[in-house]
Parts: sequence; C-alpha cells; structure tokens
Amino acid sequence: MKINNVVVIGSGTMGSGIAAQLCNANIPVTLLDLKTEISQKAKERIEKSRPPLLIDKSKIDGINVGNIAENFNLVAEADWIVEAVVERIDIKHDIYEKIFKKRKKDSIVSSNTSSIPISVLSEKLSEEDKKDFCITHFFNPVRYMDLLEIVKNEKSDLEKIKHLKNFCEVDLGKGAIICNDTPGFLGNRIGVYAMQVAMTEAFKLKLSIEEADAIFGRPMGIPKTGVFGLYDLIGIDLMADVLKSFIKELPKSDEFQEVAKEIPLVKKLIETGYTGRKGKGGFYRMNKVDNKKILEAINLENGEYHPTQKINIKSEKVDLKALINRDDKYGEYAWSVISKIINYASSLVPGITDEFNDIDEAMRLGFNWSKGPFEMLEEIGVANFFDKFKNYEGNKFLENLSKTKNEKFHGVRQKYTDIETLGKVKKTATSIDGNSSASIYRFNDFNIVEFTTKANALDYDSMDALKKATDKPLIIINESMQFSAGVNLTYTMNFADKGDHKSIEKFVKYFQDTCKELKYSKYPVVSAPSGLTLGGGFEVLVQSNFVASHTNIVVGLVETMVGLVPAGGGCKEMLWRWSQTDEAKNDPDFAPLKVFDIIGYGKTATSPVEAEPLKYLLPENKKIMSRNSLLQVSRSILQENKDFVPPVEANFNLSGKPLKDKMVKLLEKLYNDKIILDHGMTVGTELANVLSGGDTSIDKTLSEDDLYKLELDAFMRLIETKQTQERIKHTLSTGKPLVN
Ligand code: NAD
Repeated sequence: MKINNVVVIGSGTMGSGIAAQLCNANIPVTLLDLKTEISQKAKERIEKSRPPLLIDKSKIDGINVGNIAENFNLVAEADWIVEAVVERIDIKHDIYEKIFKKRKKDSIVSSNTSSIPISVLSEKLSEEDKKDFCITHFFNPVRYMDLLEIVKNEKSDLEKIKHLKNFCEVDLGKGAIICNDTPGFLGNRIGVYAMQVAMTEAFKLKLSIEEADAIFGRPMGIPKTGVFGLYDLIGIDLMADVLKSFIKELPKSDEFQEVAKEIPLVKKLIETGYTGRKGKGGFYRMNKVDNKKILEAINLENGEYHPTQKINIKSEKVDLKALINRDDKYGEYAWSVISKIINYASSLVPGITDEFNDIDEAMRLGFNWSKGPFEMLEEIGVANFFDKFKNYEGNKFLENLSKTKNEKFHGVRQKYTDIETLGKVKKTATSIDGNSSASIYRFNDFNIVEFTTKANALDYDSMDALKKATDKPLIIINESMQFSAGVNLTYTMNFADKGDHKSIEKFVKYFQDTCKELKYSKYPVVSAPSGLTLGGGFEVLVQSNFVASHTNIVVGLVETMVGLVPAGGGCKEMLWRWSQTDEAKNDPDFAPLKVFDIIGYGKTATSPVEAEPLKYLLPENKKIMSRNSLLQVSRSILQENKDFVPPVEANFNLSGKPLKDKMVKLLEKLYNDKIILDHGMTVGTELANVLSGGDTSIDKTLSEDDLYKLELDAFMRLIETKQTQERIKHTLSTGKPLVN
C-alpha cells in the first residue's frame, strides 16, 4: 500500500489541519464536507491561518474541494480516507457505511475521533472491513502538534497499520504512538487529568491563578501558558465538554472523576460568556482602563478581576527536586500536583499502554512537556519519591517499584519509533562536558551540542560548549522546542545596566570567534534546527558547514527590532550569500541593498520554503518533515562528508560611502513617512555602515575579519544608547518590539 492520494471527510478545524499537512508533504488531498462552500471556506481559512498551517502558500494547490453528495466517488481513488466530522456516532456510522461501499480494497480508513472508542466506531463494520479501519488521532494545530495516536482494533491488518504509521512519521512528521482503546487514549487522559489536578489543587491550597501558572509551567518543564492560561487558550466551554465525556466514559472508581467535578466558578464563567480567549476573556482577560489595555486575572475565591501580578519564584532552572522540597506553598503545590500525576499515570499501566514510557512521549509530543510523569519520577529519585509518597496501594507499578527501588527503572526512551532519535541516542551517549547553558555528548566519531537555556538563548557558556566540541565532527541539535531564540538579551542587559560594556564586547567577540571556528575548523559542523532560529541562533546555523532543517522553523535576523545589528557574522554571511547571485555580478551594490532590506526589516521565514528566497537557507540544505529524523539525517551528512575540507575564506568588495548614502536615502524616506522614528534612523544608519563596508571603496578587498569588526563596532555603539536599551527592556517585558 502506497499513500499517494487521500480523501479527508469533514473540513472543520481538524480536517483542514490534516489536509494542510498532507499538502506540506506533497500528497494530493480532497476535502469533502456537507457542501462544497464549507470545504472551500476551509481552504481559504488554511491560506490565512496564523501561525501558518502551510509551509508555503503555493502548497494550497494540493487541495481539491467538494461535497459528499456529488463528489463521493473520489473516495474510490483514495489510498487513505480520513474521517474528521463532528463527534457524533450516528453521523460517523453513516459515513463509514458509504465509505466502505465505495473505497478500493487496498485502502485504509481512519477516524480522527478524540473520545469514541474504536469498538463503538467499528461496531457496524463487517469483519473484513474492520481489518482496514483504525483511529488516527491528530492534535490541533496539526502542523505544529507532533503527537499522533493510532488505535487499532482486534482485527486490524497489522502490516497496513505499520505502513500508515511509517507514512505519518516520515512523511507527515508526527510522533506516532500506538495505544490501546481506552477513553482519551494517552495524551488527553493524562494531560487533561494533569490540568484538572493543577486547577483543583490551586483552589485547595488557595494559590492565585498567577501563582499556579508560575509553578505549573516552566519550573515543571511545562509550557509557560500554565494551567489557567491553557484553559483560556483551549476554551473553558470546550474543556467542560471534554470533562463531561470523561466522566461518562470512565468507571466511577477512576481517580479522574475526583478532579473532573464541576467547579461553580467555571460554570459561572461559561454562563456569562467568559469562555477564554475566543470569548470575553476567561481566567485572564484584557481590560481597558483609561484607554490602556491591562491584563487582569480572576480571583478564584470571589470571582473578581485584578491586574495580573508578576510572580517571581526565584528559580530560573527546571529543578524538580528543589521545587518539591521548597518549604513554602509553592513547594507544597508542586509536590501535590506532581505526585498525583505520577500516581495516576502509573496506575494506568499497562491498561492504556504496554510501554509506560509512551505516556512520557505522548506528554512531550502532545502537550510540549519537557518530561513526562515517569521521567519526573526518575528525576525526583525513586527513594526520594517513596520517602514522601505512601499512599499507592493497588497501584501495581508503584508497588513493584517500591520493592525494587530501581533508580534506573526508566531505561530506553521513545520506544514507539524505530527512528534513531536524539532522545534515544542521548541516553546511551557519554556526556563529556557541559555547563549551565549547553551539554556536550560524545559518540565514537562525533560530538553533539544541545543548548539547554530558556528558549535556548545564547550566552558565553553556550559559545564555550560549541568551541570545545569542534575537536570532532559536530552536530548542533536540541530536543526542546526552539533551536535558539538568539542571544540572551537579559544576560547582555545585565552588563549594560552596570555600564560594563567591556564584558559585552568580550562576549560578542567570543561569539564571533566561535562561529568562525565552526565554519573553518577541520571537522564538519551540522546544525539541525527546529522551532525558533533567530538572531544569534541563525548566526550559528549560517556558519555551520551543513544544515538539516525541520520544516517547522521560524528563521531570521531580527536584531534591528531591538535596536541592534547582527554582530555574530549574520551581516557578513548574508552579504556573502547574496554576492554569489548573477545580479550581484553585474551590480556590486545589489547584494548589500538586498541584505539591507532583509535585515533592516528584520524579515523572518516560517518554513525552509519561505527561507530560501531570502537566502536564510540554501537549496542544498536538507529540509525534513520529521523532527525525530533530524539526528539520523545529520549523521548521514557526516557520513557522506568523511573527506570534508573546510571552505575557503570569503572576501568582499563593497562600495563604501556612495552605497551608504543610497541606504540612508532609503531610510530618510521611511523616516519622512513616519514608518521609522529617530532611533530607527540611527539603527538603520549603523546597519548601512556595516553593509556598505564602512570606510572603504570598491577596489579595496575586505576580509571576513574586517566585516566582523564592522559588525562589532556598530553593535557596541548601539548597545550603549539609551534608546536601544529601552527597546531591549520593552521586548523582554512585553515580547513585542518598541518603535522609538
Ligand atoms: P468541527 O466542528 O470543526 O468540524 C466538523 C466538520 O464536519 C464541519 O465542517 C461539518 O460541516 C462537517 N460535517 C458534519 N457532518 C458531516 C457529514 N455528514 N459529512 C461531511 N462533513 C460533515 O470539528 P473538529 O474540531 O474538526 O473535529 C472533528 C473530529 O476530530 C471530531 O471527531 C473531534 O472529536 C476530533 N478532534 C478534534 C480536535 C480539536 O481540537 N478540535 C482534536 C482532536 C480530535
């Protein structure tokens, strides 16, 4: 069975997301709904989606639309038919009847249901048809959520399921986990339970929602949306429906029932239209006071809103042990929540899955946790856990563990896939060095550097790790969401606040030296980015010899937004790339003007396809749908380049002052049109100075070091200005750029 043609029935949130991801993989797809107008609207929604569901706008042409009355014959041509209609069993049963009458024999049919057991979905199917039916439970938004749960039935054709799983892993880039037919499967069963525990414990321990979100967030390796923020994001009404379905499906004795009980405040919020971000607000709301937007939070005790309070728990690092041992209400809350999640998850093994580590992986892939419950238990330590946790009678997994006291019980990771992932390999690798910003792993013949800071922001230590690791072929790759959001601005501002400009200069210089070493050391360096690859993160990538990029990247040089210029080689490399074009051969100012436009506007691309026209990525860079495969692909690049020879140093002939004048003219127009203000003019002029080559002329040849020097000098002049510091502080506190 080859999957070359897919029909998706139901073009709502999920159907359109699945169709878009198929387009990204260049698989033609037909989207059918009750009326063609509905699927046509879905197509338009896909095109306008933000963040974009498509890796490139042109991919939309892969979608054909139609309706189930007139175009159902297309089902006969499909290799895979995905049902993603409303969660109503009568409707689903009707559709299966029609599908199985029409479909070709060697096709496979699946449902995207999130709550109906496969035993119920397939109860009207013939024994023969059951063989070719399964659940493929994708998460929303499909392009960005890596989890796919596959549920088979007792009759399933295992070869076909294996084939579909492989297609979804490699072509669609999902982490596909086979799970048993139990309510909510793995991700939602544990994920929703965890949210409910985090919420009910906050009520019980009288934490404010800001406090609960500050703990049930980054300190626990969970996205910073926290629990109440996530509730608002998903929709408080939708969560209530999900809970109702769990209450109905799960036995009365299930722990879940305890935390799923209706909460009066939540009921009131739904009734008054406070359903979350899509409604009037939710636990948080945006309020206008004196024409100023103020983010407010609800008081869980009296239901009144107040301006949100910043909670500083005074711990930057994820350190579970320290967190649960804190002698305050935050420690009490963290322990209470974590221990309940560990207890619940382990009580469900092997009922919901034979491999307990699948639960960890489902939480990572479906909820973006950095560790699942069993890994949390491993990190806390088995002995430590049982010192504090006594009430596990009837929980076979914990009973057993309390006897063996095996601290290394966790074993291999990511058992659900045959791909040799970073997660698997890391567990067997030797950790040779590292610091608080990066880890270095050593294999027989190559090194891996994984950044480990918040959003993988780069500092002196990150560079130090990279530098140390160039003594072998090197792969720079991360398991966390972002490759790197750029240089750590807080780190830089700490020096700036003290007026310690020397330390900033030393850091930038070290950044440049490290990148130069990445580019010219005698061993090849591969960067394997996914997620944010911005500013300094991009400079690391662009000065690596090879790139294996995930299709979900956001890449670009955004320094001007915070009043700086790229100073780790970003200007230099972009100039070099654009100077290799035919246009640049005829016009020496072509490349600098192009780069001035790209960096000046801080342009970003949201996929490798968008990145190529900007030359953030090159055609020869590998582009990969499956994040799990990044390490394998990077390793094969090293394998193919055993005779690697470092590149020849670049040099530049730039026009100097006349070119700078041209750039300043462009800036003046923007200034007069009020698109940029005073400091925009200053930043743009500094960028113009770098890209025109400073005090040079076209007949003079500049080296890479000359360009590094120009970047560094411009950076230092800018960081010392009050206006750049204001921009940085504004971005750090609001996440948005300041126009000044
Ligand atoms: P939705 O309400 O956004 O879309 C459902 C679509 O089905 C609508 O466009 C509707 O017109 C169409 N439809 C209804 N009856 C039809 C019929 N007889 N023939 C063809 N089309 C028909 O729903 P959704 O959120 O996309 O959910 C679809 C499925 O995916 C459900 O089973 C749901 O449980 C599951 N799911 C949803 C999410 C989520 O986050 N929304 C996540 C995972 C799974």
